[in-house]
Amino acid sequence: MANWILFARDSSGMPLVSAMNGGSPENSLSTNLKANLIGFLQLFSGVGTFLVAKPSGTDNEVESVDLLPRTDLDTPTNSSALSSATWFQFFCDDDGQPVVVAMDGTNPAEFYKGNLKLALIDFLSRYSNANTFQIAPAGTSISGSVAEWKPSPPLPPSKHRVMLEIGHGPGVPFDPGAIAHDSVTTEHSLNIIAANSARNVIAKAGINCTVIDTVGSLHGIGLQSSGFDVFCSVHHNSFNGTVQRAEAFSHATKGDGLDSDLAGMIATELSKTLSIPNAGAKKAKLGVLSGAEDTNVRVAVLAEVYFIDFKGNGTLPKPHLKDFSTRGGEAIGRGIVEWLKKHP
Ligand SMILES: [Zn+2]
Repeated sequence: MANWILFARDSSGMPLVSAMNGGSPENSLSTNLKANLIGFLQLFSGVGTFLVAKPSGTDNEVESVDLLPRTDLDTPTNSSALSSATWFQFFCDDDGQPVVVAMDGTNPAEFYKGNLKLALIDFLSRYSNANTFQIAPAGTSISGSVAEWKPSPPLPPSKHRVMLEIGHGPGVPFDPGAIAHDSVTTEHSLNIIAANSARNVIAKAGINCTVIDTVGSLHGIGLQSSGFDVFCSVHHNSFNGTVQRAEAFSHATKGDGLDSDLAGMIATELSKTLSIPNAGAKKAKLGVLSGAEDTNVRVAVLAEVYFIDFKGNGTLPKPHLKDFSTRGGEAIGRGIVEWLKKHP
């Protein structure tokens, strides 16, 4: 899927706009019409940024743009100045950063320096009389003191963001966690399955969800939850092959009632879903939760989906690992979604 946009000049001097997937063009548009450009930009939801190619074969002799922001920028640009621009010119400055200039004839009227697609669309849309654009040819020089347009700050993060942390894994040495009853499957591999199943449920509920599987100290991993509503570290348990139950932890001293409420909801959902005993909300001084509690995250828990070394007994089966971890992850997701509904 395309993830950035490249602006270049084709051999006839016409703008060539390409939706790029890594280094390869996936789709392109040859036009100098602003309306076509905006429509093209809006096609690619995975695209956040754009770049302007330096004119080919020019090496150091690239076009130059040396626009100094006017000092009186607190004064809003008045509407007559806005409507006077008739076209746009795209540059690549010395740092490789795009500069887009709204032009009034041959005079620069206002510029946007940045690489954000949505900001570009906003900037282009400011000028109703400017309907075309060009990629500056080599040798184009433009300088002066011009008002700089800055995009409005991004919206505050949406609420109810969830961070799921895959327990164990990357690091030196690699930490596989517990080993399952088949003597082969690692806890880390099952944590991946469970975390991604949880994410699917959370994302389906329309809630932003990030999964991380990072290297570092446990405390440092927990610190990454800063700014999130919910942090959940996803683990599986093991003991001696004879124990089976679901449980979830909050931090013993740094946690509060909201944390243990979420731990309890997750453990209950796990127990119901997997038909295993419910050990409910527990407390422990866990490093990853200590780190999370040192941030502004609203709640932080560690879920132990089930005991992966359990060999089965008269009443409970030996767990089918992939199935249990998939359904267990979904149970975690439901627990988190329900908690967010309860504590909006
Ligand atoms: Zn673990």
